[in-house]
Amino acid sequence: MRALGLPVDATLTIEQLCRHVGRLRGRPVQLVSLTLPLGSPHGLWISTSSREYVLFEERLAPVHQRQVILHEIGHIVCDHAASPTLAAEDAGMLLPSLSPDLVRRVLGREHGQSDVEIEAELVGSLIGQRIGAWTAGPEWPVAPEARRLAARLAELEPPAAPGRG
Ligand SMILES: [Zn+2]
Repeated sequence: MRALGLPVDATLTIEQLCRHVGRLRGRPVQLVSLTLPLGSPHGLWISTSSREYVLFEERLAPVHQRQVILHEIGHIVCDHAASPTLAAEDAGMLLPSLSPDLVRRVLGREHGQSDVEIEAELVGSLIGQRIGAWTAGPEWPVAPEARRLAARLAELEPPAAPGRG
């Protein structure tokens, strides 16, 4: 948290937080709200060589969306490795407009109790203490490649993972 260098005396918006983290990583952090397939995580972090995508379910309540976004940003800040539940071929399927080589990792928001998930949740909630209230009806600038990604995601079948869905 100290290394993040968030301003002490100001409350950030989610957008300001994304710009801040993007500057630190040298890659913009892009929020993408979309309808995710049933049974999939409510949030995804897709890291490419040029951009970090944080995808979140648009049908969630705003307070829950905020929690999902902060959790994924927790993963980014902690530089977590990809979850084994989302393999590289999934990334290619999710991001057909990008070369598979560009996709560095894909991390979904699972409700597991792995150290990585607990750490992301903790860091996300710590950051959340520095973030102001979620504004109603935020408008996310969505890049064309993110629109293609959203369309592609909407066609996906739910993952066949045991114990979910
Ligand atoms: Zn997670």
